[in-house]
Amino acid sequence: MIAVSLHNTLSGQKEILKPSADGLLRVYCCGPTVYAAAHIGNFRSFLLQDVLRRVLEQSGYRVHWVRNLTDVDDKTIRGARQQRIPLREFTDHWIRVFREDSRKLRILPPDVEPRATEHIDEQIRWIQRLIEAGFAYPDIDGSIYYRLSSFPSYGRLSRLPMEGLRPSIRAKCPHDADEYNGDSAHDFALWKARKEEDGDCYWESLWGPGRPGWHIECSVMAMQYLGETLDLHGGGVDLCFPHHENEIAQAEALTGKCFAKHWFHCAHLLVDGQKMSKSLGNCHTLQDLLDKGHSPMAVRYALVAGHYRQPLNFSFQSLSMAERALQKLARAQEQLQKLAGGNAFSKSEPQSGNSPLFFEAWRALRDDLNIPRCLGSIFAIIASPAFGRLSPAEARAGLRGLEDIVLGALGLTLPATEADGPIDIAAPEEVLELAEQRQRVREEGNFAEADRLREQIQALGWQPIDLAGHFELKRIRKSP
Ligand SMILES: [Zn+2]
Repeated sequence: MIAVSLHNTLSGQKEILKPSADGLLRVYCCGPTVYAAAHIGNFRSFLLQDVLRRVLEQSGYRVHWVRNLTDVDDKTIRGARQQRIPLREFTDHWIRVFREDSRKLRILPPDVEPRATEHIDEQIRWIQRLIEAGFAYPDIDGSIYYRLSSFPSYGRLSRLPMEGLRPSIRAKCPHDADEYNGDSAHDFALWKARKEEDGDCYWESLWGPGRPGWHIECSVMAMQYLGETLDLHGGGVDLCFPHHENEIAQAEALTGKCFAKHWFHCAHLLVDGQKMSKSLGNCHTLQDLLDKGHSPMAVRYALVAGHYRQPLNFSFQSLSMAERALQKLARAQEQLQKLAGGNAFSKSEPQSGNSPLFFEAWRALRDDLNIPRCLGSIFAIIASPAFGRLSPAEARAGLRGLEDIVLGALGLTLPATEADGPIDIAAPEEVLELAEQRQRVREEGNFAEADRLREQIQALGWQPIDLAGHFELKRIRKSP
């Protein structure tokens, strides 16, 4: 096993990831709330977690990966009620969409993917134990709250200034909010009594009908599948407070043990320099980007290429740059294959092993998941004159090294290069005319007409790729 180090939010330091005594690294990541298609900000976290997992596995770690599905909360209940369908039917649909998007983005499925609604009894039992131990109390309406004042180390993970928080600690989080804005800590709901608008989305409990709050599911399911102490817990930085603080408080109150030894938080995503929001219309889903002609691998590349601890600014230009970077990598792979004397290794099954050529790239990945430094190192190597003069043996080792990193650790697949079928092969006149017409209407802001023309172009077997101020045409291959 080769050591992988990662910044730990809890200690504020970079630390080597250490498996449990039995050699297994137990990992829990907060999964999606399944009420709509995940947007690219959600996927940035899931993709970076996926790269981390791949780096760990390629480094010889044995990993057990659990990621939950939040299939009951305010938003899922609202969605199901609006569509007048059972909650299960509503969330099943969005789980299918999430899995399909994840498959396209080549995110490995977790080993266990527990659903909150399939663990209601376990959550009720944990809440009951919290009440018995004095960490929780019933409210007048049948809801149960966690008593923050009973857990003095609250706020350690996010380094909350506890002095300033004390006055509000006794205040309760608004009853119907699963999330609340993070400048003050509140007693938070473990169990929410049924309200009129919940319809038939409720479960019976000792305290009357209701449903668990959002935070309790992660503590309970994580411990059920991984034991009382996790080796690594991950999520987006927006989950650090209050969600992860609450997970710690719920678990540690009863176990008296450290809930998670290592915390991994990914910084947030900006779109065109702005926060993602519905009102700005920049909460792109994967499908939105595919509809605009981008490939899932360009999306994957663009979302993982920045450092996970830095906010990443996503733009359509970054997608075009990703397409070009993938082309460069594909050409490097092909060049190595030629120098090595044929396709020595299968594209789909990277072998383990470290080429001296890409030693620095590997070192960057294992040093706090530094993907930008890894990519920088690869591009410097493939651009150097010495790259074209590798001996067959060096090229074979280099090919293995490149594929280990690019296909294995970064989880990318590479596009066809000019040798396998040019992407800039001249399109027929008819297609070119339609694409030019589409470019004109796009510039005029007539996106509905542009979409119609794109469909016409696609029907002819071509995909327009929008680049800054111009377009490229890519031939659609039958099986992606
Ligand atoms: Zn969680």
